Amino acid sequence: MSGTLYLCATPIGNLEDMTLRALRVLKEVDLIAAEDTRNSIKLLNHFGIHTPMTSYHEYNKFDKGQQLISQLLEGKDIALVTDAGTPGISDPGEELVRMAHRAGVAVTALPGACAAVNALILSGLPTRRFCFEAFLPADKKERRQILKNLVQETRTVILYEAPHRLLRTLEELLAELGDRSLTVVRELTKKHETVFQTTVSAALDYYAEHEPKGECVLVLAGADGEAIRERQQQDWLSMPLEKHMEHYLSQGMPQKEAMKAVAADRGVSKRDIYAQLLENNGKI
Ligand code: SAM
Repeated sequence: MSGTLYLCATPIGNLEDMTLRALRVLKEVDLIAAEDTRNSIKLLNHFGIHTPMTSYHEYNKFDKGQQLISQLLEGKDIALVTDAGTPGISDPGEELVRMAHRAGVAVTALPGACAAVNALILSGLPTRRFCFEAFLPADKKERRQILKNLVQETRTVILYEAPHRLLRTLEELLAELGDRSLTVVRELTKKHETVFQTTVSAALDYYAEHEPKGECVLVLAGADGEAIRERQQQDWLSMPLEKHMEHYLSQGMPQKEAMKAVAADRGVSKRDIYAQLLENNGKI
């Protein structure tokens, strides 16, 4: 019988957020795999947990992952903890879970703090539909591509950011996505937790004057659906009518259907399209 891999959420700033189940499991497992053992030892010492610990981080995740899987297959129970919060969310963990599933090892998750969810529910922005973009990539091209994809994103967007990169990210958000409502949530669960409901441009002005400090999550309003539709309609209207028709005809759409689609794109009636085509060409 193989052991179980426990994905164990830990507090993101307030030790009282440690769950009773996490405390029990961390005491009972054979081994704790920690992203930063120096960091986790403080947590374990605080709670009087003396379970052996080993490191599992971004730079050893494949080799160390294999070793951990072998131990799990031998029947050992292992808990994975990361620096803070829920393992697998913007920290190593995802790979170990994949390996465990592939090896047929049981995996279970102990829920707890997660900065993204905490920030979202505090943001005051719509919570029904949201997407999590984690940290924007460091690579300029990749960042730009992701921001371009977000232009049309109507769900609330959650981003992680480090304080020293906050200004650059705000500048890019403003340039690529325009000014939107934004909530900057800092120091979650800590004494100086702040929820700054603002806009991207106002946050930029504020942080240009006040050096950003502490961990933060950016919760950004999704694109306004109506504004997107208007922009798309403008794009269609700037295209000659015949070219617009050709767009659909070239996809094999019958002429009547194409006229209907073109009319919907341009916000006019099918009869208007018919009349306009007739006027332009003398025939349809
Ligand atoms: N696994 C973690 C989780 O469940 O949220 C996230 C780890 S990720 C490496 C670290 C990022 O999470 C930080 O840069 C910050 O954006 C966010 N974060 C973590 N703790 C936070 C806190 N107490 N307040 C605000 N943001 C936090």
